[in-house]
Amino acid sequence: MKVFEKDNNIFKLLSEAISEGIIVVNENQIIVATNGSANQIFGYETDELIGKDLNTLIPQKYHHGHKKHFDSFVAHSAKRHMGAGRDLFGVRKDGTVFPVEAGLNPFAIYGNHYVMALVIDITQRKQQEQQIQDLNAKLEQKIEERTEELHHTIQELKEEVTLRMEAETKTKESLKKERDLGELKTKFLSLVSHEFKTPLSGILTSATLVGKYTKTEQQEKREKHLSTIKNKVKYLDNILNDFLSIERLETGKVTYKYNQFPLSKVVNEVVYNANMLLKDGQRINYPNDIDDHVIEFDEKILELVLTNLINNAIKYSGEHTTIDLQVCFENDIFTFKIIDQGIGIPKKEQDFIFKRYFRAENALLDQGTGIGLNIVKSHLENLGGSIIFTSKENHGSTFTVTIPVNNTHKS
Ligand code: ADP
Repeated sequence: MKVFEKDNNIFKLLSEAISEGIIVVNENQIIVATNGSANQIFGYETDELIGKDLNTLIPQKYHHGHKKHFDSFVAHSAKRHMGAGRDLFGVRKDGTVFPVEAGLNPFAIYGNHYVMALVIDITQRKQQEQQIQDLNAKLEQKIEERTEELHHTIQELKEEVTLRMEAETKTKESLKKERDLGELKTKFLSLVSHEFKTPLSGILTSATLVGKYTKTEQQEKREKHLSTIKNKVKYLDNILNDFLSIERLETGKVTYKYNQFPLSKVVNEVVYNANMLLKDGQRINYPNDIDDHVIEFDEKILELVLTNLINNAIKYSGEHTTIDLQVCFENDIFTFKIIDQGIGIPKKEQDFIFKRYFRAENALLDQGTGIGLNIVKSHLENLGGSIIFTSKENHGSTFTVTIPVNNTHKS
């Protein structure tokens, strides 16, 4: 191995000019040459490493793996960078471990194989890398914190926007309610004035005429006018009852009173009152086989429902027509049908008939408030009943009411 002997000036000359550490080992991993830089990096005197095992420069924990790497490397004999993808470490004479970068160059001289390792101490570079990594980590953390803060702010802003939108919607709603209420008041006032004016002037006329029939034999005429007055008062009373019902339903003050009563009592009363309103030739058919039915329900409400429906049937039917009131009882449910042969409800308006104040176009010539059906429906639904109808314009309508009656029995 003369090539690497002490006084071999060529190796010395060449290797000392290089700033990287140079370590040459033979096939047995024995160090055969080092340059000054290598000695300095590892902390050895000149030539102190010659003859030592390469493991002298490798930390103990990497010894095992290194031998295998070295042998396979010599076998393949190609120039390459060492430790691709993993950190390499060297150990100094004083035992301190430090990071290195090494390039390996296998070569052969006179049939002997060697490997020349070029070694750089990368402690400083590693420290700088670490610093950069630390800085990056700090930066990332800061960015994360800022992003988090930003998310928070965005969230708060979103909540604020939602709150504002809600407040805006509420304001709009209350404004609309106020406007609706205003419109309703105006509508209501004109409706009341209109609805009251006609019957009141009728009452006034009849009362004036009654005053004129002073003779005893004019009793029949007096009675005719008194009956007109009674009718009109009854009509006004019905309207006022409807208004009261609306007020109670709206303020939640409505209370229902269940009591036992014979069904025929209510039916007779309703029909009796309705008879006074009949037009010429009109008549009401009603069942006369219901005397036995005693039912438990709110009597006043049943009367209000039937009165409203029969009065409508009379009002919206012509002279010489028949109004049928049918009653049937099945499975604890009473069904009432009020059938007329009147003007009917135009198809396109049928959807709105239970809306408060709604009146179909063909009904506008008759007096009315558009309140009755709305109240009837509300009361029935509150009591577990229902109301539906079928109708054909100019042919007539059928209103069907159901009420549940648990304690019904035949007396
Ligand atoms: P009103 O009769 O005072 O107008 P209702 O609430 O009782 O109010 O009825 C609402 C509307 O339904 C009526 O204006 C009318 O257009 C229609 N209507 C109700 N009953 C009948 C019926 N038997 N025949 C034809 N139209 C009816």
